[in-house]
Amino acid sequence: MRPSGARLLARDREDRFFSGNTIYRIVVKIGTSLLTRDGGHLDRPRVAQFARELSQILKSEVEVVLVSSGAIAAGMGELGWKKRPSELAKKQAAAAVGQPKLMETYRQFFRRSGVKVAQVLLTREDFENKKRRQNAQATLETLIESKVIPIINENDSVGVEEIRVGDNDTLAAFVAVNVKADLLVLLTDVEGLMTKHPRQGAGELIPYVSNIGSAIEAIAHAVPGSEGGTGGMMTKIRAAKYATSRGVAMVIASGKKEGILKKLVAGQAAGTYFVAR
Ligand code: GLU
Repeated sequence: MRPSGARLLARDREDRFFSGNTIYRIVVKIGTSLLTRDGGHLDRPRVAQFARELSQILKSEVEVVLVSSGAIAAGMGELGWKKRPSELAKKQAAAAVGQPKLMETYRQFFRRSGVKVAQVLLTREDFENKKRRQNAQATLETLIESKVIPIINENDSVGVEEIRVGDNDTLAAFVAVNVKADLLVLLTDVEGLMTKHPRQGAGELIPYVSNIGSAIEAIAHAVPGSEGGTGGMMTKIRAAKYATSRGVAMVIASGKKEGILKKLVAGQAAGTYFVAR
């Protein structure tokens, strides 16, 4: 249980990252590239791995909110579409087919650990309109209190361009600020923010970012997104700017390694850590 007003994450301890600080509430975002394989089939062992890890974290008294992509890709697999459509209506149709499939898969694996999940589909208006924001927040708080893991995605099948958040990195940052998380973790298929994109030669992991300036943005800009997903490093850095400027620390880390979330919750450094301001 979170003591009232507890904000125990370190702000300026570059040497130790956030080691030794307690995390009471975590928002985890899982990208499409981690959840799917062969263009559009859900990677069930991966989903099982995340369900296991997140269940363990929940049982260790850390409150968990999950933001999951993968609906469009899962829908493509189901519909037999080989190439990700560029047309909005087709993406929305794929999401409409894929979202229940995604939830069905999560539910099945979380159930093995005795953990209940809920689907929450949000769009930009749910954050911009005060009443809707409070309403979404109250729903999420009630689910969290009931030890249910909310699994959030954008309401892709109805969101027209103007009301869409557009990518789940940003959506996850909105959610993390809305529920006052202690840590936002964006899980992806790379180690974190690297000095160079793998295709441009051997780069090094940037372990710690205390200020998102133009140098960091330039690096992120040079990194293209993975196939199948929407984001890339740019949306992640934008999410980091949004979250950290509102008091939520953020990590970009690889979701390919089992145990990464446990490590982060225990206060150990992994991936790239963005300090909250
Ligand atoms: N909402 C999209 C989906 O579930 C993902 C958006 C993103 O990849 O950022 O497919």
